[in-house]
Amino acid sequence: MPITGSKTKMERDARRNEEKLRICRLCDIAAGIPDDIGRYADRLYALLPESERAGGELMDSRLAVCNDCNRNSDGTCLECGCYCVIRSFAVSKHCPVGKW
Ligand code: SF4
Repeated sequence: MPITGSKTKMERDARRNEEKLRICRLCDIAAGIPDDIGRYADRLYALLPESERAGGELMDSRLAVCNDCNRNSDGTCLECGCYCVIRSFAVSKHCPVGKW
């Protein structure tokens, strides 16, 4: 979606950050999966607007569910293809099968 001139710089930055975050989808990074997913996740988290950051407690509770889930394959959700840690850290994201 094009960025229009009528938006504030903050809105444009937030939009760009959202667009950058789309690269976390496994289908989009299949050609270049990062070696260090922890550092990659940290970078993506820093790009999120603060209002979208889940925070430690919510992320921990989500990841506890993922850790016990039979659709978790070494940290990748087999339902959506996302890294569980990355999916967990945006407030607006949900488990694709409704576990969190
Ligand atoms: S996001 Fe949901 S389906 Fe995927 S691994 Fe976590 S709990 Fe399981």
